[in-house]
Amino acid sequence: MKKGDAKTNYRQQLLSARSDLLFSLGAKAESIASLGRVNEDDQAQASHEEFISLRLNGLDYQKLRMVEEALDRLDSGEYGLCLACDEPISPRRLEALPWARYCVHCQDQASVDFDERPARLLEVVTY
Ligand SMILES: [Zn+2]
Repeated sequence: MKKGDAKTNYRQQLLSARSDLLFSLGAKAESIASLGRVNEDDQAQASHEEFISLRLNGLDYQKLRMVEEALDRLDSGEYGLCLACDEPISPRRLEALPWARYCVHCQDQASVDFDERPARLLEVVTY
């Protein structure tokens, strides 16, 4: 596979993951909204969104952020490089985790050093 094709492939995977996440987050937001119909002024809406973000969808939001960061890196040409050591992340790892930010070595080192605990759950692939 040519390099350019791989990046197109990663982008498609990321875009697809992003739309899945947005759909999932939207579906959850709707189900919450239908549970409690309170006064939805701006204030209520803001705390409502905060509630969703913090409590229910923390992991989805974390993943969405990682996916969008990866798309940014595709645009800036930095995609596929470990954010910690600048070494290339293995293609196998990127195929399984197109939003991976760290190479497997740095991910192993990262458990204490990086404040990314929820995100680490999304980076459990060990290659
Ligand atoms: Zn690294």
